[in-house]
Amino acid sequence: MTFQLNAEHEALRAMVREFADREIVPNAAQWDRDHHFPVDVVHKMGDLGLLGAAFDEEYGGGGGDFLSVCIAIEEIGRADQSMGITLEAAVGLGINPIANFGTSEQKARWLPDLFAGRTLAAFGLTEPGGGSDAAGATRTRAVLDGDEWVINGSKSFITNSGTEITSVITVTAITGDEEISAIIVPAGTPGLIVEPAYEKLGWHASDTHGLVFDDCRVPAENLLGERGRGFHQFLATLDDGRIAVGALSVGLIQACLDLALEYSLEREAFGRPIAANQGLAFQLADLDVALEAARLLTYKAAALKDAGLPIKQAAARAKLYASEAAVSATRVLTQVLGGYGFMEEGPAARFYRDAKILEIGEGTSEILRLVISRGLGLPVV
Ligand SMILES: Cc1cc2nc3c(=O)[nH]c(=O)nc-3n(C[C@H](O)[C@H](O)[C@H](O)COP(=O)(O)OP(=O)(O)OC[C@H]3O[C@@H](n4cnc5c(N)ncnc54)[C@H](O)[C@@H]3O)c2cc1C
Repeated sequence: MTFQLNAEHEALRAMVREFADREIVPNAAQWDRDHHFPVDVVHKMGDLGLLGAAFDEEYGGGGGDFLSVCIAIEEIGRADQSMGITLEAAVGLGINPIANFGTSEQKARWLPDLFAGRTLAAFGLTEPGGGSDAAGATRTRAVLDGDEWVINGSKSFITNSGTEITSVITVTAITGDEEISAIIVPAGTPGLIVEPAYEKLGWHASDTHGLVFDDCRVPAENLLGERGRGFHQFLATLDDGRIAVGALSVGLIQACLDLALEYSLEREAFGRPIAANQGLAFQLADLDVALEAARLLTYKAAALKDAGLPIKQAAARAKLYASEAAVSATRVLTQVLGGYGFMEEGPAARFYRDAKILEIGEGTSEILRLVISRGLGLPVV
């Protein structure tokens, strides 16, 4: 067993890091303050091949592995969590269902522009009645009327659903008794109402909206994959997404450690760098261990996926550990920076606000512990 990334992965990391340091780091604070979604960054990530990296070359993808996507998300997330989640959701939630379950016509129609970053796709699963029990809480209905689905209902907190380049939203809906299906809804379809952007604690530069479907009609052939397979499709989509959120969390932990190291070596108290105090240095040592553990869990889950092996447990472990470690990392960073850590003039305060959602989206910590417990054979409800 080797724990070395290969030369291609290292080159990808270097390329994405250089891009993120040049294009994202200098602007992230302003985008955060302005709640500005920078469309051009999506175009540029597309130009670099980050959106299609792990997908079919037939539709313009890079034909690479999922680990590459994780490395890209990690590096973008190290620069800015809003742009990191934009990439993560674009790939994990937007592209993934269409690439994995779509017909060749659906793939040919949507994927080339999505891979190129000309457009964005979103995935609407969560409803006002709940996200953890997504199947039980689904109230959105789609009824076949001739050769059209008529969709009625609403979705909550949908990432990338209201940008000027959003082209398509895949939504889950009840299509019969005990039957949930996924249906592709092109942006701009009459009856699809995109609500105003949410005011969020963090991820200010990421796009999040509620959606309402009011007699929204789409062609019958917009059914994604098989009718009645929506539940299976979203579980598989979330397993992949959890690994990707693990990577996003790793990026944040790395950013916290980098900044904490730099500051603690420069800042002096009692005539010595604050890093010379064991009480502070040991917090950074623990952060280093957490970073390594989070990265290993995430890369292992990605490697299992690339090998075609089961990932449910590994994905849950990676996301659970990495997201909680990221929240702790932002707390440590803020503490190391003292009063400056509480100020919006540096990135620490933004990191602190951005971290919490990592423990919530694509499976809360409680739901992940449930998944892991069940995987251990425990009869937990
Ligand atoms: C910024 C943002 C972006 C998002 N993007 C998307 C998106 O693109 N697409 C999408 O479909 N969804 C998206 N979501 C929704 C997200 O996945 C849900 O918020 C999440 O799954 C939790 O669902 P909920 O908010 O309804 O909380 P609930 O399910 O109501 O849970 C509330 C609390 O109860 C706990 N809980 C629930 N059941 C149990 C249990 N059995 N045991 C123990 N504790 C339990 C939960 O862990 C949580 O702490 C997004 C959310 C946010 C905030």
